[in-house]
Amino acid sequence: MVMKKKIYFNVPDNSGHQISNLQNIKKIKTFSAGGDVTKKCEKWLIKNIKCKEALLVHSCTAALEMCALLLNIKKGDEIIMPSYTFVSTANAFVLRGGIPVFVDIDNLTCNIDPKKVENKINKKTKAIVVVHYAGISCDMDKIIKIAKKNNVYIVEDAAQSILSYYKTRPLGSIGDLATFSFHETKNIHCGQGGALLINNSKFIKRAKIIRDKGTNRDLFKKNIVKKYTWVDYGSSYALTEILSMFLIKQLYKAKSIINHRISIFNEYHKLLKNLEEKKNIVRPFLPKYSNHNGHIYFLYLKNKTQRDSLINHLKSKSIDTAFHYVPLHTSNFGKKKIMFKQSLPNTEKAYRSIIRLPIHSRMSKNNVRVVVNEIKNFFKIN
Ligand SMILES: *Cc1c(COP(=O)(O)O)cnc(C)c1O
Repeated sequence: MVMKKKIYFNVPDNSGHQISNLQNIKKIKTFSAGGDVTKKCEKWLIKNIKCKEALLVHSCTAALEMCALLLNIKKGDEIIMPSYTFVSTANAFVLRGGIPVFVDIDNLTCNIDPKKVENKINKKTKAIVVVHYAGISCDMDKIIKIAKKNNVYIVEDAAQSILSYYKTRPLGSIGDLATFSFHETKNIHCGQGGALLINNSKFIKRAKIIRDKGTNRDLFKKNIVKKYTWVDYGSSYALTEILSMFLIKQLYKAKSIINHRISIFNEYHKLLKNLEEKKNIVRPFLPKYSNHNGHIYFLYLKNKTQRDSLINHLKSKSIDTAFHYVPLHTSNFGKKKIMFKQSLPNTEKAYRSIIRLPIHSRMSKNNVRVVVNEIKNFFKIN
């Protein structure tokens, strides 16, 4: 019997393996944060994302924590966000005493539903945090209008959204603040890493201090002050130069890595069209205003039972898949600490019914056909 080759859910891209070339390591003068390669990565981000400033940090989680510090989040401040997201979106603000106010997602895009945002705003609201799920943009014009009218900040959790666009604007260039993740599960990675992107210039000076343990060492290094000292809140948020050396190669290849993912996404989308038509299994909805980066390919199944049996069927055929987020408002910590009482039907439905299919640099269109054939076998269609 011939064993079928396993199809992995994610294989981190290894463009950037050149870091193992010790010659390069020998040439580094700074191993800790703030070296030349880190600066090169930040320049690339400013140029390609069109943000005012970019600071590399050790994770998207760190960048979100910096957002909470920059916005001076205090006990009782409210932050509007989806519940269908990764824990760090909320935890960063909860750490400072903030209260996440969860808003349901739109049924089609899985992104925060702008229609449900405005009536959650009150005097305590400090910010709206949007998450561009799967690298597909939120409906930003509507969010911007609400934020302006009510004088609250916008933070984009763009962890999944490097080189995705809202109309012609790169995601990460729209909010007052925005965050990227370079975790190995994301399109562009360095194992673990992230970036804080700043579009509202009033945050730039303080962000550099917060990243550097609350000190003004940045000004000291530029010879602007004679000594450096403790001047503000902060922590050790920066990324080491060695990881930047891996990341820079990823950034230089970002467009080709992403184009490949988009071609895999499009192949799934084409081959699964008749599954949607015949069985009403819903494929990702792609709004006109969004240009995505092929981060996730997902399907909405009828219910949890059907979704879980498809996961098991594919597993028995050596194909790895995944579900997504346990809604934060129904998580153990969310229930105990946030005590959010409302139900969020679209969020709960996405958690029960979504399956994510394999998509990564090593996947071929042939792999996609293998996955799709097994899905069609499960549904007994051609
Ligand atoms: C991955 C992810 C994060 C966390 O990123 P890290 O770099 O692992 O801290 C935060 N938010 C969203 C939406 C994510 O997908």
